[in-house]
Amino acid sequence: SAPVLAIDGPSGSGKGTISRLVAQRLGWHYLDSGALYRAVGVAAGWADLDLDDHGALVRCTFDTEVGFRDDGRGELRVLVNGTDATDELRTETAGAAASAIAAIPEVRAALKDRQRRFRQLPGLVADGRDMGTVIFPDARFKVFLTASAEERAQRRYKQLNDKGVSVTLDGLLREILARDARDAQRAVAPLRPAEDAVHIDTTGVGIEDVVERVLEIVNP
Ligand code: C5P
Repeated sequence: SAPVLAIDGPSGSGKGTISRLVAQRLGWHYLDSGALYRAVGVAAGWADLDLDDHGALVRCTFDTEVGFRDDGRGELRVLVNGTDATDELRTETAGAAASAIAAIPEVRAALKDRQRRFRQLPGLVADGRDMGTVIFPDARFKVFLTASAEERAQRRYKQLNDKGVSVTLDGLLREILARDARDAQRAVAPLRPAEDAVHIDTTGVGIEDVVERVLEIVNP
């Protein structure tokens, strides 16, 4: 079957940017698995669901349609039940909702097949937390990206600032640390590198250099 490059790591490690660029360079498909969890989080918000009501959230997962569309300029637009929710998906509120929802085992199970369907020729770059461990354990290539929490907060700050979203660096750092802790400690699919993953610390490393290192793993 089609080769998979799994790129896992915590939020702000550069996964999204690196994965998209590597997919472009290889001409492979791209799966933003975090967007699926975020989409369910956003849909749950639209439906005014209680984040403690696991039954309702599991139903919401099955009922939420997520579509990905290339806008022609290399940017991915995400449609949630037919509505373009790309900008809303990127907010910390959506990230926090996604993280809460992602801790529910039935939600993760419900999204498993949807993620595996992205595996198509000529190949797939899969970006997430459990790509190399749970979704594509047989992935031919596995990378685990890290960066210091401070650097990750900085990157997020810049990203949001560029979009005109008003946030404080300190608040972001606290949110990132809280989300990391929850993602690492949850009972189901805690964030951890696959045993056979190549670790890359991106602290202080430019995007193009990280892209080159990852491409080197696929085409040595
Ligand atoms: O990667 P991103 O920040 O978009 O992910 C949002 C949240 O979704 C993460 O904090 C994590 O809790 C969850 N997630 C996950 N498994 C994935 C991708 C994301 O649990 N494969």
